[in-house]
Amino acid sequence: MNAPLDDSTPHKPSNFLRGIIDRDLEQGTYASRRWAGTPGDAQHQLSGQPDPAKVRTRFPPEPNGYLHVGHAKSICLNFGLARDYGGVCHMRFDDTNPEKEEQEYVDSILDSVKWLGFGWQSNFNGAQQDHLYYASNYFDFMYRAAEALIGAGLAYVDEQTPEEMRANRGDFTTPGKDSPFRSRTPEQNLARFREMRDGQHADGSMVLRAKIDMAAPNINLRDPAIYRIRRATHHNTGDKWCIYPMYTFAHPIEDALEQITHSICTLEFEDQRPFYDWLLDRLAELGLLQQPTPKQYEFARLNLTYVITSKRKLKQLVDEGTVEGWDDPRMPTIVGLRRRGYTPEAIQLFCERIGVTKADSWIDYSTLDIALRDDLENKAHRGMAVLDPVKLVLTNWADVFSNGHLEPCTLPALPHPPEGIESPVRHFTLGQEVWIEREDFEEVPPKGYKRLFPGNKVRLKGGYVIECTGCAKDADGRVTEVHATVVHDTKSGTPGADSVKVKAAITWVGVADGVAAEVRLYDRLFTDAQPDAGGKDFLASLNPDSKKIVTAFVEPSLAQAAPDQKFQFERHGYFVADRKDHVAGKPVFNRVTGLKDSWGK
Ligand code: ATP
Ligand code: MG
Repeated sequence: MNAPLDDSTPHKPSNFLRGIIDRDLEQGTYASRRWAGTPGDAQHQLSGQPDPAKVRTRFPPEPNGYLHVGHAKSICLNFGLARDYGGVCHMRFDDTNPEKEEQEYVDSILDSVKWLGFGWQSNFNGAQQDHLYYASNYFDFMYRAAEALIGAGLAYVDEQTPEEMRANRGDFTTPGKDSPFRSRTPEQNLARFREMRDGQHADGSMVLRAKIDMAAPNINLRDPAIYRIRRATHHNTGDKWCIYPMYTFAHPIEDALEQITHSICTLEFEDQRPFYDWLLDRLAELGLLQQPTPKQYEFARLNLTYVITSKRKLKQLVDEGTVEGWDDPRMPTIVGLRRRGYTPEAIQLFCERIGVTKADSWIDYSTLDIALRDDLENKAHRGMAVLDPVKLVLTNWADVFSNGHLEPCTLPALPHPPEGIESPVRHFTLGQEVWIEREDFEEVPPKGYKRLFPGNKVRLKGGYVIECTGCAKDADGRVTEVHATVVHDTKSGTPGADSVKVKAAITWVGVADGVAAEVRLYDRLFTDAQPDAGGKDFLASLNPDSKKIVTAFVEPSLAQAAPDQKFQFERHGYFVADRKDHVAGKPVFNRVTGLKDSWGK
């Protein structure tokens, strides 16, 4: 599918949601709205100012876990649409479930959205407003809405057992059966519902149901439950309520109270849309809400290979100690991606590139890494690090220079700096001993090998040309030292040998000024590309080699990195100074990704 580019926003690919918004703006669908900015106050919709925000979206997580890369897609979509259309995206906690919700999650969710580069403030005609909302602040309104439905004969208290209710709901081929409680009068239902509210009935003994149609082909319209009894302390409302609204009832009301224009959710809610519309239309008829009510639109959720995006399963990995916490760099949580070294820009770019459609599909993990490389290629400072060190001794050093001499060397931190920016310069020294990668020496070179082997010349990158003379080995035959000599420039008689042609330049770090670093080499957490698809046990495909720690040597500029600073380690890939464990002088780096795709077969 080659979506045409939208002229008004040249770099934003068009998608079906933009098409819908364009149409609504053109037709003035929401132009009559009034906004007073106090959702939950029943009057606010009827008394406000004309709504200057043409487009209002929302991001409505339940604060029961940390956000993951799937949420990032939803965040970029909802906040991105609001940004591009000059509207606002509401940050809303869908905290209608008293269990499982915690302040820790609220804090981390806000932090993650901000880190990704988005905010929930609007500024219309100089009036600043903060659009951070909690669904639990609407409990009073939701309760009134429930009573209004009861009064209109559109809801009833059902005292069937959960088993009876399930049995009487029918299935795809069988229509449901009316509950014996379905024909109670509004007065009887109201009295019962108030008893529920007042704590006179046990948890689970009865529910309030919408009265729609037990024979509806869409099972979601067969009198869905809208309120249940649950004696649980809520993080926001405490013990005020012992009845709580069901998600399917609460969510449309939240959207309507906040005057959302486009309520965007994932495809699994498609079958709920008829109830969403039914509820809001009835409440509008009853005078509790204003038309036009919000409309729900569905898009395909993000499925990323080698990744699970279920909060419950991610929590299991944390709780069982499979990973080292929510922000373990192997976790697909936003805090994990951040600690791993992915940038907000890369994640936004990734979300733009994967686009928004209604067709379910799997995105290859390499798409995220490519976005990261594209973001960091010209931004991340280069540096040399030796991850599998063996010592190289320049045996003629004292003759050419003097014993202990250190030759200053420099290289640009940015070989291709962005326009208008001058590259900073990295300083390091070359001495008699340097660290090189073990794989850069072969006593007997395989065919085509261009690096160090006896008799071959290479350049030490940013330093001199050297010629390999041999090596020293331990009793097991393992190379302990590689030997070489500095090559003299035959014309000038000085070391440097710029006129000597060599086929390879190898990376290195001086023994004198290199700094030992802990480097964490991360790989995919699962070996199966679709770890939990089709109900598979995702723990069965855990990658035992997802984390490897090596002691590396890094050049001085890397050792002085600030926590969270990203680098390209020449030839190795992108690395980040760990935001928790790294201190300048005692470096700790995480590998974000290599320089080339390693995700293919
Ligand atoms: P989980 O199923 O992992 O618990 P959730 O969907 O229940 O996640 P919510 O807190 O309800 O988590 O999600 C907030 C928003 O993020 C919702 O609008 C939801 O549609 C969206 N979202 C969640 N997962 C994905 C995904 N994989 N791709 C795109 N959007 C997602
Ligand atoms: Mg969900």
